[in-house]
Amino acid sequence: MKIVRRISELLTRDGPLTGTVPRTGLVPTMGAFHAGHLALFAAAREENDVVVASLFVNPAQFGANEDLDRYPRDEERDAKLAEEAGVDLLFAPSAEEMYPEGYATWVDVGELGERLEGEFRPDHFRGVATVCLKLFNIVRPDRAYFGQKDAQQAAVVKQLVRDLNLGVEIRVVPTVRDEDGLALSSRNAYLSAEERAAALALPRALATKDRERARELLRGLEIDYLEEANFNGQRVLAAAVRVGETRLIDNVILEGEST
Ligand code: AMP
Repeated sequence: MKIVRRISELLTRDGPLTGTVPRTGLVPTMGAFHAGHLALFAAAREENDVVVASLFVNPAQFGANEDLDRYPRDEERDAKLAEEAGVDLLFAPSAEEMYPEGYATWVDVGELGERLEGEFRPDHFRGVATVCLKLFNIVRPDRAYFGQKDAQQAAVVKQLVRDLNLGVEIRVVPTVRDEDGLALSSRNAYLSAEERAAALALPRALATKDRERARELLRGLEIDYLEEANFNGQRVLAAAVRVGETRLIDNVILEGEST
């Protein structure tokens, strides 16, 4: 597996991705890989000639009081896992490489970015959409892979592709869960044993597929939102809760497929 840090290496005419068409799959990530990421790599490996993963903890999608500084980072471990999963190229740029001095252009995703997650994380989806557009331009993938766990993010990316005619196929991979039902997340590493036990209320609540019963089961946790949402015809029950200092999100599909 090749590790690339400079955008120019990918955009150059004789760069590592040139001549490797026809099919490139991109998996954008923030690292701290777990089986959820590996499921995305496997899906990409299955239907592309070349699999690119990006590893970039995108400052633009974190709010001022969020966990950017303590977000788990272990590039060596991630590179090993990516290579074992069949990733051909890991794009791991620095923040300065992606947002050099003078950087000024942002994608405004409109109303979809203001609801649910967007209400509690203003500018989050502006950061997500901007970095995804940049990654699509740098890697020029045929397909890009996202997790159902972040259903609103997948909907934002689909809207981005549709509205700006990006011509990238967006695939959404089902949520991978631990045996106890907790959706895998890099942020689960923040949880103490006690907090983890409390966090199990989230998947259990969502599994009822009933907002009122879910609200009962979440009693004792701080709920940011617990809402039914319709993303491109897929209806989900989505929630964000706080367990101690850790903010967790999850959702369950009520109607419609992952694609
Ligand atoms: P992250 O590194 O957390 O930004 O996640 C990178 C990609 O992996 C995103 O598209 C996430 O939706 C996806 N992802 C994260 N956790 C899971 C999971 N438990 N199951 C499936 N996909 C996931």
